[in-house]
Amino acid sequence: MEKKNSLRIKELLAQQEARPDVLVLGWVRTRRDSKGGFSFLEVNDGSCLKNLQIVVDHQLESFKESDKKLTTGCCVRVRGHLEKSQGKGQAMEVQATEVHVYGPADPEKYPLQKKFHSLEYLREISHLRPRTNTIGAVMRVRHRLSYAIHRFFNQRGFVYLQTPIITTSDCEGAGEMFQVTTLDLAKPPKVDGKIDYKQDFFGQRTGLTVSGQLEGEVYAMALSLIYTFGPTFRAENSNTSRHLAEFWMVEPEMAFYDLDDNMDLAEEFIHFLFKDVLDHCQEDLEFFNTRIDKKLLETLSQVVDHRFERIPYSEAIHLLEKSSENFVYSVEWGCNLQAEHERYLVEKVFKKPLMIYNYPESIKPFYMKTNEDGETVRAMDVLLPRLGEIIGGSQREDDYETLMQRIQAKELNPDEYWWYLDLRRFGSAPHSGFGLGFERLVQFVTGVENIRDVIPFPRTPKHAGF
Ligand code: ATP
Ligand code: MN
Repeated sequence: MEKKNSLRIKELLAQQEARPDVLVLGWVRTRRDSKGGFSFLEVNDGSCLKNLQIVVDHQLESFKESDKKLTTGCCVRVRGHLEKSQGKGQAMEVQATEVHVYGPADPEKYPLQKKFHSLEYLREISHLRPRTNTIGAVMRVRHRLSYAIHRFFNQRGFVYLQTPIITTSDCEGAGEMFQVTTLDLAKPPKVDGKIDYKQDFFGQRTGLTVSGQLEGEVYAMALSLIYTFGPTFRAENSNTSRHLAEFWMVEPEMAFYDLDDNMDLAEEFIHFLFKDVLDHCQEDLEFFNTRIDKKLLETLSQVVDHRFERIPYSEAIHLLEKSSENFVYSVEWGCNLQAEHERYLVEKVFKKPLMIYNYPESIKPFYMKTNEDGETVRAMDVLLPRLGEIIGGSQREDDYETLMQRIQAKELNPDEYWWYLDLRRFGSAPHSGFGLGFERLVQFVTGVENIRDVIPFPRTPKHAGF
């Protein structure tokens, strides 16, 4: 098609001078007719939030043909002249010389009419919702963030590693696993009353990965600096605004990093990402700032401009115990921090991003490095205002004996971790890493409240349509 050299709407809108013979390809958001015999089309092609206004003279031969089909939602090809706009609200507009409708959208049936639609309703039409301002803006920001993630690590010499999606290791404690099987569920083969996985596709029980960390560590013990960025699955039945059954996680793993280095990297990472979107997604962020959260830009700039607070878990507990807040869950040393506790500390006590580190050994997975006190491990969580946890990470146990003891103490089977243990037998190195939930990042940056609205096709309990 001849579109090869044509400009997208974002570029057309940015032109300073008139231009003859431009080509516009996109979807009509609205149409307004004037008494003077003109139609004004607002056309969007997803390249930016703004629409391009097209002025169509009713005398045009091609208008007579397309008139009836030119309604909200139709897809058009317009040829014309780009000119400085006479009207208010836009700098440039196109005076059409030819209008062609590729695909009409019956106004009686098209679900996205020009009116307010709730995000809940839009989820029911996930195949059409990308054509709305909000979802379009979310996806552009999402793209920019993923690009920035790769840039951040690439600049620092990290290797992008693709870890398997089907796995036999469950990265203990991370969450419930989805099972992967080709066995006939109606009559699975059994021995001694138990399912015989020897007859399954892989000859053993397999599931969808809950984290690429263990495999990431393997490559960090050779390439020093790696990161994964891929789909992650958790069959946890938590119907919250911050949990998906399928989400994307970024997991850097670094040899020769201790917990402090790990926290430094996490902070630098978030600063970099926020700054990048502030610099490159201005129009979309301003839209979110007006429509979704009036404090969004202020919050993002504040995060970029300030160091994160860092406190040990014990101090977090101390602060919670002496607070006069009425928590649903009570606090004592050894307990898991609930979202309400995290939010209190971030929003009321420190009023900025917070890292909590050195958690009790008993509530953390086996692979985290034990501190000298024998009671705590070198874990860290990064908490953001409103959202809560965005990153969880740790220094990893690099001593063979200690790791073996913890595997046994947690009643795990060492045989299943033989290759992971081998990393501690051959050329073990101090190392650390963390996991950042990509959708939580997009949520925070856009201010969108529900995580289901920042991923193209959300998967949550009882929802896997589209
Ligand atoms: P949470 O306590 O919030 O459920 P977690 O402690 O189970 O999270 P980790 O195992 O530490 O999470 O995973 C690392 C990161 O992955 C989390 O900090 C979070 O940003 C993200 N994450 C975890 N579970 C989910 C999920 N179900 N949906 C979306 N993101 C998630
Ligand atoms: Mn966590």
